[in-house]
Amino acid sequence: MQLLFKNKINKIRTFALSLVFIGIAVMYIGLLFKGSQIAMAAFMLLGVIFVLMSTGVYFWVGMLSTKAIQVTCPECGKWTKMLGRVDACMHCSQPLTMDKALEGKDFDVSYNRRSHASNEESEIDHKK
Ligand SMILES: [Zn+2]
Repeated sequence: MQLLFKNKINKIRTFALSLVFIGIAVMYIGLLFKGSQIAMAAFMLLGVIFVLMSTGVYFWVGMLSTKAIQVTCPECGKWTKMLGRVDACMHCSQPLTMDKALEGKDFDVSYNRRSHASNEESEIDHKK
């Protein structure tokens, strides 16, 4: 399974989840500053901001998914939601397109370049 071909809604959800973890990690760093109440409060506040941001992102993805078009994946036969002209199936990551002109063409990797999930993965590695 290629991460590059991830469904956009799933990708945003992963992003929101990683924001929660970042927020918790930042608050945890705050606890290490026992000597300085200002530094501790600053980290706590920053952590809360991250968690609030993730709530915002969850809300946003909820709005997006109501607007997303439901299609049946030709590959796995399951219902999936897609955003924009090009998206991947939520279940099998099969590239899908709404645009007839793009049909049959190779999935444009550059379209989803920022989806390289290396940031999320390294975040998880740090905590272990
Ligand atoms: Zn599928």
